[in-house]
Amino acid sequence: MATQITWLGHNCWLLETAGRLVLIDPFLNDSPTAPTKASGVYAEFILLSHGHSDHLGDTVEIAKKTGATVIANYEVSEWLKKQSLAEEKVVGMNPGGGMQQPFGHVKFTIAHHSSSMPDGSYGGVPGGFLLTLDDARIYFACDTALFLDMKLIGAGGLDLAVLPIGDRFTMGPDDSLDAIKLLNPKRVAPCHYNTWPDIVQDAETWAAQVRSHTAAEPIVPKPGQRFTLGGGR
Ligand SMILES: [Zn+2]
Repeated sequence: MATQITWLGHNCWLLETAGRLVLIDPFLNDSPTAPTKASGVYAEFILLSHGHSDHLGDTVEIAKKTGATVIANYEVSEWLKKQSLAEEKVVGMNPGGGMQQPFGHVKFTIAHHSSSMPDGSYGGVPGGFLLTLDDARIYFACDTALFLDMKLIGAGGLDLAVLPIGDRFTMGPDDSLDAIKLLNPKRVAPCHYNTWPDIVQDAETWAAQVRSHTAAEPIVPKPGQRFTLGGGR
């Protein structure tokens, strides 16, 4: 079955790929826009971009409930072990590193942002994820500014790029257009906007600009909406 992807608001995404359920940045219980609570999701893997509470979210609760393996940067992974997640269920990475997982290959990419844990402890450096799946290659930029190395991330071809457009804490709509030109994905989806008043954006205006300024097809899901990827590689 082709890879399915559902937006759960903010930077939370659910991938169904290779018969596995993969959650990204599961911020649900305290998210004003999430269509479900943590109790309503299941995951076998959780990818965590950095330690801020709007990304870490309900990782610990979901991991304990489902037995999911959590993949994060090294410092976040060590913090998670202190929250009594089992050693073998936590995987630490660092930017530039990649590893094969049962659902596909995961590369932890650079991101220009900050990272700290809710208790104030050091959260290492934030990152994004480049996923090479059976039928698609997807880049989740996660929280970041625009950076020129996106050119390299897109060099192998991307079926989908997921970019923040909220501005203030991440790149905004204008910089996302430059990011799309550097990444050159077939499709692009926005996130990290409209969660709170300080990151309000008009996604339809953004989509029109993507169509007129880039070669990518914009996809603007509503929270809870699922779409299909893959089949093109
Ligand atoms: Zn964030």
